[in-house]
Amino acid sequence: MNEQQVQQHDVETTRVNLMGLTQARMEAFFESIGEKKFRATQVLKWIHQMGVIDFDEMSNISKALREKLKAVAEIRLPKVLKQLDSADGTRKLLIEVAGGNAIETVLIPDGDRGTLCVSSQVGCSLDCSFCATGKQGFNRDLTAAEIIGQLWLTAKSYGQFGEKRPRIITNVVMMGMGEPLLNFDNVVDAMNLMLDDNCYGLSKRRVTLSTSGVVPELDRLGQYTDVCLAISLHAPNDELRNELVPINKKYPIAMLLESAQRYIEGLPDNHRKITIEYTLINQVNDRPHHAHELARLLRDVPVKINLIPFNPFDQSDYRRVSNNALRTFQEILVKAGLITTVRTTRGDDIDAACGQLAGAVNDRTRRSERYRNARAAATEAEPVRIIG
Ligand code: SAH
Ligand code: SF4
Repeated sequence: MNEQQVQQHDVETTRVNLMGLTQARMEAFFESIGEKKFRATQVLKWIHQMGVIDFDEMSNISKALREKLKAVAEIRLPKVLKQLDSADGTRKLLIEVAGGNAIETVLIPDGDRGTLCVSSQVGCSLDCSFCATGKQGFNRDLTAAEIIGQLWLTAKSYGQFGEKRPRIITNVVMMGMGEPLLNFDNVVDAMNLMLDDNCYGLSKRRVTLSTSGVVPELDRLGQYTDVCLAISLHAPNDELRNELVPINKKYPIAMLLESAQRYIEGLPDNHRKITIEYTLINQVNDRPHHAHELARLLRDVPVKINLIPFNPFDQSDYRRVSNNALRTFQEILVKAGLITTVRTTRGDDIDAACGQLAGAVNDRTRRSERYRNARAAATEAEPVRIIG
């Protein structure tokens, strides 16, 4: 790997941003400036275990090398615009990323666990009908530095770094804004940093990639990582899924489930299950016949199902599933022998729930504008009924 390849992650300045470099890329960087490879481990530990981003504080690196590093490299993080803390302990960071956009990351504490929901893109191009991120359109992929930066900034906000660091972030889910498989290389690099013992040292069983089903990318994921997999299914048949998750028209359910199963079977510890995410929307996909059909569909697939009550947002006419329908739906699946949990909504008071992560997207597709116009036109065209 040459220096130019190392720099591919960094579009802003001519100095290499060390923030998003994996062990291999960091080693290539040090070799490219005529230094020994072992420096990579030292710097990775400073950044990701000690939380140090000032070269001058790296005490096991000579002054001469620190000066050299300052000339050719930097450790650049996105900026936290706002920190919101919910009454239930959920913390949301609104983070400014290059280009005048903002993304969000959410930490959900639960007993001795803390799950960080990480964004992979600014907006999303896939336009699922029930998702606030999708409605904003797409701007760009996040760099590996911006993805791992969400972990770093959250850890910092809790004082997690240093020798006696408390373990606040124990789990990571790639379920924030964006479709992680459409930003493959940067997401894989960031996940490698999460797992690296010289960095965050998270267990591969505690890092989950969630996808709406970009099958060609899922097919090659196993060559690069062995994290857990979640599939955003949301419908038991192609007809309904085409409506809710448009990418289904390209990669239908059977193809997606086969690919997911190949991934899971390829993992070295062949005991893991695919998590199936199913967002329940009132009267759309929450009927008992949908649950029965789902049970039939997943009968022979190694899965656990996570039911997510739809979180309403301004631009959507969908409504949340009723508690009764939710209970019935779950009971049908459990009776069919499927492990089924319900995701409780957290951080309600700070809009931190799934699919509500919005940030501020400078939409290159102009989708949000088109969407607003279409809704305005629909409202205007509504006939006024005079009763009486
Ligand atoms: N793009 C990836 C990961 C981000 S979305 C994916 O689709 O899997 C993370 C999860 O939130 C997905 O399961 C998604 O379907 C769900 N979600 C999106 N909008 C939602 C909403 N309004 N209410 C509840 N869940 C939602
Ligand atoms: Fe994108 Fe996931 Fe939202 Fe669909 S649900 S629009 S894939 S972020």
